[in-house]
Amino acid sequence: MREAATYAFIYHQLLVVLAGAVCLFGTWVGMRHFARARATEGTTRAGWLFMASVGTGAALWAATFISILALDPQLASGFEPVATGVMLVIAIVSCLIGFEIGSRHFTLAPEAGGLVMGVGILAMHFVAARGWHVAGTVSWNAYGLVLTFLFGLGLSALAVNRANRPVTRWCRHGAAIVLAFMVCTLHYTMIASATVTPDAAATLPSWLIPAPTLAIAVVGAVLLVMGSGFSTYVIDLRSRTESADRIHQLSFNDGMTGLPNRIAFNERLAFDAAEAHEKAHKLAAFSIDIDGFKDVNDLFGHAAGDLLLIEAAHRMRGVLATGEFLARQSGDEFLGLQMSGNHPQDAQAFAERIAAVFATPFMVQEQAVTLTASIGYSIFPTDTPERDHALSNAKLAMYRGKSRQRGLITRYHQQMDDKARARRALARDLQGATERGELLLHYQLQTSLHDGRICGAEALMRWHHPKRGMISPAEFIPLAEETEAISGMGEWALRSACRDAAEGRIPGTVAVNLSPLQFERDDLAETIHAILLETGLSPKRLEVEVTESTVMSDQTRGLHILRKLKSMGISVAMDDFGTGYSSLATLHAFPFDKIKLDQSFVKRLPEDAAAAAIVRTVLALGTSLGIPVLAEGIETEAQWQFLAREGCAKGQGYLFAKPQSLAQLPAAIAAAGRFVREEEPMLFDAPRLAAAG
Ligand code: C2E
Ligand code: MG
Ligand code: MG
Repeated sequence: MREAATYAFIYHQLLVVLAGAVCLFGTWVGMRHFARARATEGTTRAGWLFMASVGTGAALWAATFISILALDPQLASGFEPVATGVMLVIAIVSCLIGFEIGSRHFTLAPEAGGLVMGVGILAMHFVAARGWHVAGTVSWNAYGLVLTFLFGLGLSALAVNRANRPVTRWCRHGAAIVLAFMVCTLHYTMIASATVTPDAAATLPSWLIPAPTLAIAVVGAVLLVMGSGFSTYVIDLRSRTESADRIHQLSFNDGMTGLPNRIAFNERLAFDAAEAHEKAHKLAAFSIDIDGFKDVNDLFGHAAGDLLLIEAAHRMRGVLATGEFLARQSGDEFLGLQMSGNHPQDAQAFAERIAAVFATPFMVQEQAVTLTASIGYSIFPTDTPERDHALSNAKLAMYRGKSRQRGLITRYHQQMDDKARARRALARDLQGATERGELLLHYQLQTSLHDGRICGAEALMRWHHPKRGMISPAEFIPLAEETEAISGMGEWALRSACRDAAEGRIPGTVAVNLSPLQFERDDLAETIHAILLETGLSPKRLEVEVTESTVMSDQTRGLHILRKLKSMGISVAMDDFGTGYSSLATLHAFPFDKIKLDQSFVKRLPEDAAAAAIVRTVLALGTSLGIPVLAEGIETEAQWQFLAREGCAKGQGYLFAKPQSLAQLPAAIAAAGRFVREEEPMLFDAPRLAAAG
């Protein structure tokens, strides 16, 4: 025994290192279990949380004891058995609560969970100090204890923070290192705060556990808990590898393209998401939709469409790199997954690679068809912490892009949800808008380009929303088509336009747009017939406008309906000509009375040589088939002159008149009178115009 009245402890360095190592290994295994808990749900999650807590708790407990055993108090000493047991319970319970809180989704959840663990670890140290009896009195330094507290709480919060908010793949190891570091730090600060005064008179109770016995118990417990924890981890890893193999087998299930199917995709998503969680990787989900595929199918038939899909799938598969996965959802929709370290730009690059395979035209029945793909993607867990939302977000992004323009690559962002919500609200408002009298028709005059005389008007629907005011058909017609409200709305438009025309408020023929959904109804011709009877309008004054894809979705039926309408004396115009897969065959097959040349070509006249060439071709086509052409969107005198010179029969556009309400129509008609050329008609190509009729 030394002579000094008080002294600090001395250390067995090797045991301190061992304590750190035990803590490091134990918490590393614990953190792996914790990562699995975060990636799973329900009872599996509870099981993993329990394993994580027992493993980490036991490791912390053992490390604390080994480091105490590393101290040589140079006095007789021993441990209270109850305190020893209580410490283990405290360690495990605080880890359990800490991990449970740490794996939740509220803002500071990881840090809060870490604090709980820190409190537990501190409590364990203080119980240890109380339960450790030496033949003397121990006094504590207040500053040292405060320091111990701060280190304990701060470092444990940091540990769970690192495990839950990884920024690099090394963070998961960082969590274990921080915890091990904390246990060592706590131990040293606490011991450094203590001084012992030997007391020769003190006798230790006989029931204390002597250090060597405790050492054997600790080593035994450590081996048992960590061994079982580690083997659980290895078994889990193995079974996951097996399930990855199973996914691989399940994969080739789409008979046509040979790509994995939707089920395989879901399995792969679950697997990759768990992996991403654990390794702090990013997982990007993609929704890929081939634009205009439906038109190809309608125009060339299903067999040709299938061949095109096979070719597209083949091309896309050809550009996949490791860690990337492609599946076919259905029809022309494909799904993708990409596991990437920490580079969100990888996802964009993947999408660009996929988009690029569509740059080369596809050969369909010896015709080159150029297609594009609309791609949306969302990155997990950056864009959403929920694995299941990754795909729906990607789809939302894809649809959002597609609605703006074909062939776009769009990344999901939060506001899209808000927009989707607003859209749904608008769709709800649209229900019953007809009954509430919120719909109205505006009319746009149509003019003969030859002499500037008015020959008719097109009815264009408007929606007066009670809160938002006037809404454009470009916004609400697609919504109405999705919700099928268009049927009722379209019928209302037909009836109102016929009534207005019959009452003599519209000059010449009145043109009404028909939606594809109206065209699908078997009773379309009968409905129109009834409306004509009801309003008393002569069928000769009614024209219906359909787009190419409307008719082509079911050619035989489409032809049948058009013939019926024509036999009633109603004329049929092909709207937006030039934007679909306008082919000669369509014009030959259907008895159209008018071709409405889309405004996208007219807009570029007369300077744009390519647009001018297309317009000339369409006009020549109309002439040779004997179908007059009406040019849409004429805005300038120069466009009018060009079109008239090239023999275009009719026109419609802001130059002559903007769409107007019924009340303003007389003024518009009067204003359009200034274009009439009585004595000196526009220059035109007489033979062509004569042929066009
Ligand atoms: P659409 O049938 O091709 O109608 C022509 C569109 O071009 C109208 O847009 C018209 O306002 C616009 N327009 C006319 N002249 C010019 C011009 O000189 N310059 C420019 N920039 N634009 C011009 P609106 O009224 O917004 O209608 C958009 C589309 O909504 C219509 O295209 C049509 O497809 C659809 N639609 C409108 N009313 C109905 C309806 O009653 N039923 C159905 N099914 N669809 C409708
Ligand atoms: Mg139209
Ligand atoms: Mg049009």
